[in-house]
Amino acid sequence: MRPDIAATDALADSLARLLPALESFTRFEGADPAARRTLWRVALDEPLPETGAGREAVLETLRSYVIANGLRIGAPGFSGWVTTMPTTVPAVAQLAGAITAAQRWWATPGNFLEVLALRWLQRLVGLPDHFEGSFTSGGATANLVGLAAARQHAGERRGFDPSLDGLQRLVEPRVYASTEVHHVVHRACGVLGLGRRALRMIPVDSSRTPDLDALERILDEDPAAGRTPVAVVASAGDVNTGIVDPIDAMREIAHARGVWLHVDGAYGGFGVLDPRVAPLYGDLSKIDSFAVDPHKWMAVPVGCGAGFVRDGGVLARALTLEPAAYVEMAPTGTGDLGSPFDERGEGNPDFSVDHSAPARGLTVWAALKEIGASGMRARVVRHNDCARRVAARVREHPALELLAEPILSICCFRVKPEDVSDEDTLDALNERILLRVRARGRAIPSHTRVNGRFAIRPCFINPRTTLADADATVDEVLAVAGGLGAIGERALRSESPR
Ligand SMILES: *Cc1c(COP(=O)(O)O)cnc(C)c1O
Repeated sequence: MRPDIAATDALADSLARLLPALESFTRFEGADPAARRTLWRVALDEPLPETGAGREAVLETLRSYVIANGLRIGAPGFSGWVTTMPTTVPAVAQLAGAITAAQRWWATPGNFLEVLALRWLQRLVGLPDHFEGSFTSGGATANLVGLAAARQHAGERRGFDPSLDGLQRLVEPRVYASTEVHHVVHRACGVLGLGRRALRMIPVDSSRTPDLDALERILDEDPAAGRTPVAVVASAGDVNTGIVDPIDAMREIAHARGVWLHVDGAYGGFGVLDPRVAPLYGDLSKIDSFAVDPHKWMAVPVGCGAGFVRDGGVLARALTLEPAAYVEMAPTGTGDLGSPFDERGEGNPDFSVDHSAPARGLTVWAALKEIGASGMRARVVRHNDCARRVAARVREHPALELLAEPILSICCFRVKPEDVSDEDTLDALNERILLRVRARGRAIPSHTRVNGRFAIRPCFINPRTTLADADATVDEVLAVAGGLGAIGERALRSESPR
């Protein structure tokens, strides 16, 4: 028997076998399969097979274990992470792309739509057309792309090319960000050879935004001490409480000193679509680079971020791909005599860190084609409303305390019985309540710490979530707190009826 039995046909049949299970998963019915972990682990954990099991066996395992036991992060009550399950059309677009546009650089409709989607995306968030960039595997790489361009800029201002020559002449490089900055920015500094220690944390004030006087001071002191400022990073929606840093003010401080301003909008970049908070983003046309994650609020399948840079030339020099004979031999656009394989697609390979990659933007195109800019705007506003609804309920309840006023779609709060004031007791109580709420399964918020205190933290980006789910989050917390005897009958009922 021939050992390579990979099916190259039977696509319709293969999909048909999985469709009922997939369809049923999206209804989130019955007991949550996450509880059956020991069962599926035992079934799936096997040694490398010497002989293939064949198409039908793989499909059956996908159906009965992988799909049936999937993690229900798309269930309407899930507000746990800044990650969600894709909506239908982008998920299907990914499959279509995997089969027909597998390599992003060659001329296919998938390649064309990826580049078009990049333009649509930058229009959507309000970046001018002359910004350039690429889709990335996520926000971590989108930030890496922005900071690679910043590093290039810092080197070129000092008369050398860091991408070509290395970093010896970039003496004691420094990157500045608020203490709330996402931890992938530290790693980007490490990967880029600046060092994770190069990231200097600017303390935050009572509004949890970076102390601008401190930023100004350190940006003056560091060069005087022989250090090299490379970039200031502003968060447009931090993942703890959703803070949008004062981007305009940070940019003015940075630019007055010739320093790059990068905005990490991986989560909150789309927040600019809500007119209530748009002014916080300032004039994005003047920033130097921007990271945004369509695989978060836009709910395309995970594996899609985007990095934009105001000056595409700096980016291309930062991520230059050296020529290679096997690529350069391929003629581009040979006209009548050419075959479809002679033509390079659109997009610039010098704008990304990966090489072979899927046309990730196809899913973004599909999402925007399906719901338009107005659909995306409505989603962001609805989710920001969810956070405001939770905050309003918390404010009017004597046994709940708002720990951070929502800015975007995150609301941090805790249970605070009137007779408990010890902070450690409150932390332990809220941790217990959160775990019980999650175990009940109706509402799945997550947690963080706000000013050191344990906070229950719903983050609303799930396209299936509505205001009713925001209400259910508060109801569940109150029900569990009541059940634990943490808040009395009187407190439970004291909320004014809605
Ligand atoms: C999610 C996130 C990141 C990291 O993005 P990934 O897509 O997880 O790689 C970085 N910064 C912020 C603000 C984020 O929300």
